[in-house]
Amino acid sequence: MSGFVSLVGAGPGNPELLTVLAKRRLAEADVVVYDRLINSALLMPLTAELINVGKQPEHHRVSQYQINQLLVKLARQGKRVIRLKSGDPDVFGRGGEESQFLHAAGVDFEVVPGITSAIAGLAAAGIPITHREFASSFHVITGHHKAGGHQLNWENIAHQEGTLVFLMGMKELGEITHQLINHGRPKTTPVAVIQWATHWKQRAVRADLDTIETVVNQHGLGAPALIVVGKVVSLMPELALTKPLAGRHLLMPFKESSKLFANLQDQGAAVAFFKRRQNLALDFDWPQIQPGTLIVTSPTAFTFFERRLLAAGYDHRWLSDWRLLAANQLTVKALKARGISADGLYEPNQLARSVASSVMIGEAADLKRTTDFKGQKIATYRAVAVPQPIELSQFHGVIFPSSPAVDDLLNGCQPEQITQLADLPCFVMGRRIFEKCLTAGLQRVILVPSQIDKVPAAIEAYFKANAGSVRVSCEEINRERSISN
Ligand code: SAH
Repeated sequence: MSGFVSLVGAGPGNPELLTVLAKRRLAEADVVVYDRLINSALLMPLTAELINVGKQPEHHRVSQYQINQLLVKLARQGKRVIRLKSGDPDVFGRGGEESQFLHAAGVDFEVVPGITSAIAGLAAAGIPITHREFASSFHVITGHHKAGGHQLNWENIAHQEGTLVFLMGMKELGEITHQLINHGRPKTTPVAVIQWATHWKQRAVRADLDTIETVVNQHGLGAPALIVVGKVVSLMPELALTKPLAGRHLLMPFKESSKLFANLQDQGAAVAFFKRRQNLALDFDWPQIQPGTLIVTSPTAFTFFERRLLAAGYDHRWLSDWRLLAANQLTVKALKARGISADGLYEPNQLARSVASSVMIGEAADLKRTTDFKGQKIATYRAVAVPQPIELSQFHGVIFPSSPAVDDLLNGCQPEQITQLADLPCFVMGRRIFEKCLTAGLQRVILVPSQIDKVPAAIEAYFKANAGSVRVSCEEINRERSISN
């Protein structure tokens, strides 16, 4: 079988600025070869092997030749290879060169276009790249021209009527402004510099051609950034939108399609995921007793039980003589979704007399910890913690919609990450989760409503009230404890 290489544009940074085809290709991939500017939030949900060619551990970039060779090698192994590039692959992304190399090597490939930062990055800062009153063309120019040995034709560039957008130009900002002024552009021409456009750390400044360098230095802006020159920049104050959670980088547990993720992103937050535990099916024996009470501790416990039931040639009718108790409302709901009505909620002390005919199904380690149940325990699955390679210092808060999510993050973290986590605001969507976080030693635990629609506003209110605070005192934790009670 011969492989296939897709040169895929990842868009400017926000993980939702991806084409539908790019999303599908990423889900189908065997291996993803990605660049430095790729937002890790895009990579986390993928199951493919990930190869970072942007920066090696010793900080040497992988050469273009090595990348080309790697793509050919992987394709010849029969793999579906994604070459993931920021923005659009063909806009200063060497997509053309890689395509030529693949073509010459006889490897099948395609280009999946992406949303270029050269357009979307401007929009994110309130600058439309064209406008009937201000610019009837745009010109995307590399500021890194020296590397290619070419000199830009400044005479030509300076006299363009349309918007000028320089990529890779931050080191040359002084030279760019100098050349434009020298070739006749008025010193008062509006200029904007937008760093990390569409990422949570997006920053933008605006000034005139002769002052922009000073302003950029004052604010400490650097690469990656777009330099925008032209009248459209004057629209920035009018059109730049600030959403309530703009600039907030939040972490939440992974879910394929999540309303919470959508709500937070819609309010301007940049949301990334941490991984959930891996659940492994366990081989278990059928209960060797007459039908009695079956206690279902979680939806997952039942999923694995049900799978085994079906594999053994039975179905839900096998349960008809059992009394079914669910450990919590979540499980009641999950059972209902499968057409099963639980007979009630499990209360630990109620079973004293019928304990001999009671069976509890659940996760192996959870069941071991459940010492107050004396009936038969059946572990239907085992949960395995998954490492969480997350730079927690890059986040403003974590959201825990459930208690298992707390375990998933803590169990996958290294000790130094746990220390960082202890200092990070943790927004918990329920009182039990609140208690769990405090027990786990987390210091900044904030109870928010359990209704998904209300979470963004609660987080916004917290950040408003605590702007700039580094650490929340014990009083605050106690206050929240009393609110939650
Ligand atoms: N193919 C990419 C550009 C790659 S060249 C695209 O279509 O967007 C890399 C340069 O692009 C950076 O030096 C910077 O000038 C610009 N760039 C890419 N993403 C950016 C972002 N999110 N914010 C600001 N500049 C960005």
